[in-house]
Amino acid sequence: MPTILINECLQEVSTFNPVQSHLGQFYETEGVTFLEKHKKISSEVQGAMSVFEQCDYKLLGGYSARMMSSGGVLKQHDFDHIQKQFLAPILEHHEKCDAFYFSLHGAMQAETCDDPEGFLLKQAVEIIGKEKPIIISLDLHGILTEKMLQNIWAFSVLHTYPHVDFVENGERAAELLIHCLKTQKRPILLDIPIPALVRGDELITETGIYGKLIQQTIDLVEQNVEVLAGGVMIGNPFTDVPELKSHVLLTLDNDQKQAELSKACQKIAAQFWENKHLMQAELFRMSDAFEFYQQVGGPVILADAADATSSGASGDSNVILKAIVDYDASIPSLVPILDAPAALLAKEAGVGNQLTLQLGGACDKKRFKPITLSVEVLHINEDPIPNVSHGGVYDAGLTAVVGYKKIKIVIFSQPIHLFDPSIFTGNGCDPKEFDFIVVKSPHTQYHFFSAWSKKTFVLDVPGSTSANLPSLGHVNCQRPIYPLDFIQSFIPQTKGYS
Ligand SMILES: [Zn+2]
Repeated sequence: MPTILINECLQEVSTFNPVQSHLGQFYETEGVTFLEKHKKISSEVQGAMSVFEQCDYKLLGGYSARMMSSGGVLKQHDFDHIQKQFLAPILEHHEKCDAFYFSLHGAMQAETCDDPEGFLLKQAVEIIGKEKPIIISLDLHGILTEKMLQNIWAFSVLHTYPHVDFVENGERAAELLIHCLKTQKRPILLDIPIPALVRGDELITETGIYGKLIQQTIDLVEQNVEVLAGGVMIGNPFTDVPELKSHVLLTLDNDQKQAELSKACQKIAAQFWENKHLMQAELFRMSDAFEFYQQVGGPVILADAADATSSGASGDSNVILKAIVDYDASIPSLVPILDAPAALLAKEAGVGNQLTLQLGGACDKKRFKPITLSVEVLHINEDPIPNVSHGGVYDAGLTAVVGYKKIKIVIFSQPIHLFDPSIFTGNGCDPKEFDFIVVKSPHTQYHFFSAWSKKTFVLDVPGSTSANLPSLGHVNCQRPIYPLDFIQSFIPQTKGYS
């Protein structure tokens, strides 16, 4: 039976977050522990393992670096550590392995490396050679690079946003790997790059245009035996690296219908281009949300997409908190904020006691200035909290819930994903009991917030993951690119890799 080595490296970076990310923010696991851990979380590795195990393949756990959330550009020294650890099991085991599966995100950036995933794959090929299949899975927010495409046999990509198909994505990668092992033939990868960055509600795949475009690639897979995989990647607009753009992608088993399938792909890319202006975020002012509340009441979700930790922001924006304080602090409101020094001061004061806190701007000092509030400490937590999305836990570090009039502020110390209510429910706060709920994410799964709230306002506030893309100041990505630049016309062109 074939032996497969599995590695993992997942991180998403916002170049515009001034705080560099570091190794301490990653969960590192190795060998059997790495694989065992994945049995308890909905992940690509779990999905891939379940397919391999059904075929009785022998699995070797290599190395995994999973960042708890996203962050700023990764310190080079720490990426050097990760790459060493990533390559070590490949060096040790490659001769006895028949194929390799790597679960990657795709939106990393290190201080002196704009394409860490491409670097890892190139190094891996230098060890393994070109004769054994390397298959990867990617997030649709990954930045797909030439180096990546040149050094893999095939890849699978997420099909949903908000992401709910991690397991299926891993299953798809495993099936591609099995196919490659059986045929011992490198598939043909078709790539249509599109010079556009997108954001906004139309990206919600269940209801938006983006989902329909992805579905067309899935239809091509289902209707043509030659097509092994497909997808549409949009990159992370906040990872300002040279190859940042969107892509329509197909993986072909052979070249029999390549010309026809390439045309079909170009058609999808043309539709993407035609609809690019719809795939931009509709942003509201704070006053729009307050007016709505006055007329309709709560609960109202105030989405701080600009400070989305899951996209790489720092999580320490106090802009919406300050706006609520200024508007009316007697409205029951729930606000998360990353501020390690404030959490520590709250702990030292103790539950039930009052103290004056400087809140916000703990990390992104340029964008956010602290506000001073006299608060009561309501709750302290130092334990990891249950992850309500994917199982397992989040480690937000020391967390304090403090009260200012009717506003409850959940102050945590380490960035975690905030696209679900884990930070609230894990600290004894039920978001349904509040009129304003601040969610530091552009979107969430429907049942978490939209299902029971009156309206969600994605607010045009400052932050390193602002959906107001031209406001960020990209300097590295290839220009021209929409919506940063005007582009007269776009003719989709296919690049092939085999
Ligand atoms: Zn993503």
